[in-house]
Amino acid sequence: GGNRPFFERVLMNNIREFIKNAGCLNIHKDGGKIIIEMNEADSEVRLPDLEKIKEILKNIPGISNFCLAVSVDKNIEAINKKTVELLKNYLQTEDKKILQSFDKLKINSTQDDRNNKIKTFKIEARRSDKKFEFKSPEINAKVGEFVLENTKLKVDVHNPDIEIVVDVGHKYCYIYFEKIKGIGGLPVSTAGKLVSLLSGGIDSPVASYMMMKRGAKIIFVHFKNKTISSDAGDDKIKNLVKELSHFQGKSKLYIVPFEEFQKEIIAKIPSKNRMIVYRRIMFKLAEIIAKKENAKGFVTGDSLSQVASQTLENIGVIYNVASYPVFSPLIGMNKQEIIDLALKIETYETSIIPYQDCCSFLIAKHPETKAKLEDIIKQEEILEIDEIVKRIITKIKPEVI
Ligand code: ATP
Ligand code: MG
Repeated sequence: GGNRPFFERVLMNNIREFIKNAGCLNIHKDGGKIIIEMNEADSEVRLPDLEKIKEILKNIPGISNFCLAVSVDKNIEAINKKTVELLKNYLQTEDKKILQSFDKLKINSTQDDRNNKIKTFKIEARRSDKKFEFKSPEINAKVGEFVLENTKLKVDVHNPDIEIVVDVGHKYCYIYFEKIKGIGGLPVSTAGKLVSLLSGGIDSPVASYMMMKRGAKIIFVHFKNKTISSDAGDDKIKNLVKELSHFQGKSKLYIVPFEEFQKEIIAKIPSKNRMIVYRRIMFKLAEIIAKKENAKGFVTGDSLSQVASQTLENIGVIYNVASYPVFSPLIGMNKQEIIDLALKIETYETSIIPYQDCCSFLIAKHPETKAKLEDIIKQEEILEIDEIVKRIITKIKPEVI
């Protein structure tokens, strides 16, 4: 609707931020398309950059697909010539690839074997510029004819080996062969900010990714017991944030010292309720950060009934303490589905590095699975939460990763 330009503007800013060091000349719009202009350097300089940019674009929320295209002036002769030139290059590269695979398998190949792959083509014309002198079917016919005359390829409109898109924009005509899938979703920041409770396990990084994909900018908070977790633990959390930065760009991480709270809980709360109180205090502290950052909600890696603190009753008691909505996008996912996603977004390997964030006394042998809010609130009354908050709050400084 009317807010499309806003989403496009944010997406273009995000893309610019991501690829500013990758040989990109400028980003602009041409009709409904966002055009990233690349250097016209010789191929040796250009290829590694293109690969890098492909990998970057594949991870930017808001991009459903993209193409590596070549732009030409908008006249049919130029379009014809460029299409054939690109096709010949493409066929040569494919031929080389096949030759290499034959070499690897130590099979002798003839030119005929190799040319077998791509035999048919189809021109798929699109026209955003409705004033262009030819309509799409006419472009198909003209460019198709020129390709027929100048290559050995035949036309197959139903099941072509290669589809050549000729997309007539307002400024240029764009020619490309393949469409690359992005992750889709919405540009980061269009939804506002969320504070993610990042534990260092498998789940919370995946949950953070899911909310980035829906347009949230994530601020990370990790609660750390520095008496039991080492500096290597810090590195692990920072590495997770770094991996997640591939999706949202620079990220803020708050590491909150939590040992005083853990001691207080262990001293004063019955063992079966410790985990619930522990997680409620995390939300109280996360809220201070949310206010400071102007974030409007929280993210956790909870999945229904995965562990005792994630039963319906306990989730109710834990989330009740939060003044902003709590989002748990993994709530209906199985562990294996979460692991598969962690592998896909490449946080899994870091997540499984052993790490202790939580004193063993907090993990009860027989934890409560059906906590009652009144009981928990009553038990919390004797904790000196506000005093501890006052003591540690000045120590909490974010790091940009
Ligand atoms: P994860 O794989 O994300 O660690 P989990 O299955 O181990 O999840 P819990 O340890 O019970 O489950 O934690 C549930 C959620 O609480 C986490 O997904 C995370 O959002 C939050 N959380 C737990 N521990 C911490 C911590 N030390 N710092 C920040 N958030 C935490
Ligand atoms: Mg955990």
